[in-house]
Amino acid sequence: MSKYTGPVCKLCRREGEKLFLKGERCFSPKCAFERRSYPPGEHGREAQFRRRRVSDYHRQLREKQKTKRIYGVTERQFRRYYRSALQKRGLTGANLLQMLERRLDNVVYRLGFAESRSHARLLVTHGHFNVNGRRTDVPSMLVHEGDNIEVREGSLKRTYFKGLPEIAEGKTAPHWLDRDLKTLNGRVLQLPERRDVEATLNEQLIIEYYSR
Ligand code: SF4
Repeated sequence: MSKYTGPVCKLCRREGEKLFLKGERCFSPKCAFERRSYPPGEHGREAQFRRRRVSDYHRQLREKQKTKRIYGVTERQFRRYYRSALQKRGLTGANLLQMLERRLDNVVYRLGFAESRSHARLLVTHGHFNVNGRRTDVPSMLVHEGDNIEVREGSLKRTYFKGLPEIAEGKTAPHWLDRDLKTLNGRVLQLPERRDVEATLNEQLIIEYYSR
């Protein structure tokens, strides 16, 4: 399955909750979910009033889709993360979420250097970041403890990055990351744990979905 390129607000409406995929807009009255909180499609409005029994499979599938959409990964990538989480020691669900959090695009977003994960992905693919001093343009790269993420010298001259310290100041970075807004530099202090994943995700349902 290829990357989703359709209207992202529809994804929130499909999942029945705000997934915060569009940065500032998600916090404004322009948010599509605030205005139309029913599923997209011809019968979406009626569906919100229809009472129907929700199967376990349905709940598992929706949780998997929601998580995939929040982190902006494809089905193939997501399944790969699941397989890899299964092989690691510890709880599979926590391992899975940790890997998603360790993606470079997510880390750039968490540092407050991008408006959303998709924006972070774009900034990374355009080669604006160095990881441990080396130019990196792979958003799926997993960071490690002690890694250093910085905006490249050439990119600092760009209008977006010039204004970034002021914008990022209003956003808090999680405790497992450290950042210096003067130099636009970030550091991974430790790997994220389950409690550091702020989204209200139920990883157990995802594991159940793949273990069927
Ligand atoms: Fe979802 Fe953000 Fe669109 Fe609102 S504005 S529907 S939270 S992506």
